[in-house]
Amino acid sequence: MAANASALSAPWSDRIKRSAIILLVTALVLGGLVVLTDLSLARGIFAFVCIAAAALVPWQLHEGAHSREAEPRADPVDAAVVRSLVTGLPDPSVLLDRAGRVLHFNPAAAELAPALRRGELAQSALRSPEIVATLRQALAINKPQRTNYVDHAPIERWMELVVTPIPVPTHFGGSDTCMLMTFHDQTPLRRVEEMRADFVANASHELRTPLAALSGFIDTLQGPAKEDAAARERFLGIMRAQATRMARLIDDLLSLSRIELSAHVRPSEPVDLIPLLNQVVDGLEPLARERGVAIAVDIPEGPVIVPGDRDELLRLFENLIENGLKYGASGGKVDVALTEVPASESLNEVRVTVRDYGPGIAPEHLPRLTERFYRVDVGDSRAQGGTGLGLSLVKHILNRHRGRLLIESVLEKGATFTAILPRAASPQKI
Ligand code: ADP
Repeated sequence: MAANASALSAPWSDRIKRSAIILLVTALVLGGLVVLTDLSLARGIFAFVCIAAAALVPWQLHEGAHSREAEPRADPVDAAVVRSLVTGLPDPSVLLDRAGRVLHFNPAAAELAPALRRGELAQSALRSPEIVATLRQALAINKPQRTNYVDHAPIERWMELVVTPIPVPTHFGGSDTCMLMTFHDQTPLRRVEEMRADFVANASHELRTPLAALSGFIDTLQGPAKEDAAARERFLGIMRAQATRMARLIDDLLSLSRIELSAHVRPSEPVDLIPLLNQVVDGLEPLARERGVAIAVDIPEGPVIVPGDRDELLRLFENLIENGLKYGASGGKVDVALTEVPASESLNEVRVTVRDYGPGIAPEHLPRLTERFYRVDVGDSRAQGGTGLGLSLVKHILNRHRGRLLIESVLEKGATFTAILPRAASPQKI
């Protein structure tokens, strides 16, 4: 406070000193003239007053103007802090005055609506009728309003707009209202919601198909085929296959949700892939014989340890080899090979390759194969007892193990699926 007071008083003492010098010099000169010339005392005093006024008044005016300029221009919404607040908001945000003119907007809003300009009407930059109507409504009733609309350019996005009236103080002690528009991109939420709805629709459809077949056969067995022993045997066989498919579907769905729930926890149990692969191949021998396919196994003898979940890894290789046997049966052979990528600082992984020589997969299907319920040929998959969830499970299991899946295929030449698993740095460590 003391420092401030002295700072304020310093210019005044300077001014008083300068004024005193001017007045003193003027008085001396005029006094001399009165004494030395025939200038009367009255005229001398009059001249002194005029000179003093001429010298001092413009100074005061000048100083007054200066001090008025130095007063801060306190426009509340123009304040740097308001600008910084709007700029700092994470979502696209625009602050408007009562007339709908843009006062401030942040970089996210500039990206959303590149035509936004300060001082211009927001409506000309944000042309969507929903935005304009919501803004008008918020202004009219002075209450927060929200709306959803679809932004078509540059990409389709589902947006939510919230318009919030904000009272602001004015220069003269009153208050006015600004409008804060904040935009929220709802596209990711919407996509998840769509995926969930698709998933439920697909799962119900997949369950309903075998269920419809089962009730149809039950009706037939209770009615027209009641006494037909041969038909009964045939229908019961079909019913068993349908019931097995339903059980498998439910099993796959439960496995998927269990793996998804624990996706963030990397499995750490040491698993030797050699006996595990042999077990899978042995288990699938009956299917291979049924399909007339030979399984050629090329795996090293010694232990190949990876940190993992044994049951999930069994499921992973079962799915890949079974697909080769089912869809690549026409090739007559499925190769299963394990290669260890030599340990190095950056690469330390195990690759298990399952290759068949069947019809292969057209390139346009490859990126979608691991989607739930995606099938190249739905009829073929159902006929094979497939659920459309096998490769999705494979992908999720590999993700959880921090591994990855490579799919390569040449039409008419077969398909190769490679599961890549990170290996333990040294077997002793796990
Ligand atoms: P499904 O239960 O139908 O077998 P998957 O997720 O395991 O489900 O496979 C998805 C689809 O990928 C299959 O329906 C099939 O069309 C195709 N597919 C998978 N493996 C092969 C393969 N080895 N050769 C040809 N097509 C395959």
